[in-house]
Amino acid sequence: MITIPTDERSLSFLDEVVADTPGGERIAHCMQCGSCSGSCPNGPDMDYTPRTLFALINAGQRERVLSSNTMWCCVSCYACTTRCPQDIPITDIMYALKRLSLREGLAGGTDAPALAKTFTGLLDKYGRSFEFGLASRYYLFNKPLSMLKMGPLGLSMFTKGRMSLVPTKIRQLDQLQAIIKKARQLGETS
Ligand code: SF4
Ligand code: SF4
Repeated sequence: MITIPTDERSLSFLDEVVADTPGGERIAHCMQCGSCSGSCPNGPDMDYTPRTLFALINAGQRERVLSSNTMWCCVSCYACTTRCPQDIPITDIMYALKRLSLREGLAGGTDAPALAKTFTGLLDKYGRSFEFGLASRYYLFNKPLSMLKMGPLGLSMFTKGRMSLVPTKIRQLDQLQAIIKKARQLGETS
């Protein structure tokens, strides 16, 4: 059992998370049952399981939460959200924490933001993922030395027809781009 000190910023951090998450006010009702952590496929890789993360948020541990890798390990499977007896929008809170972490420049301890940025850049351009482009750009700009190690895996995927070397665009890409543009505008003004 970890001991979590409550600091003087507790109210403001909780309020921040709530303000950035539809239905986020329910986080105050977390009863620490652990169903979310028990359901999470990525719990073992997280600095703090979802249950512990909510205890930290309620205790106002802003920097500890926002600099953790927990939200970046979330794969949005919604298993936790569907099982939470308190109807806490856990997955949406993970998204809010990602935004706050980026805004505060506290996501430096994980590669996930760089990977997400590369991924969304490809979505903007093609409307779908392009695995070869994703892997090559991510490693080239963020981990060039590791690129060599990934070569055999990439080659194996290519020879088995699991990875194309050429990107393809979706039809009516302009419509998706207009939706993304509008979502970004709304995100900036909210
Ligand atoms: S399942 Fe819900 S109530 Fe239980 S620990 Fe997780 S967030 Fe809290
Ligand atoms: S939505 Fe995220 S936090 Fe919830 S169970 Fe899935 S990976 Fe874990």
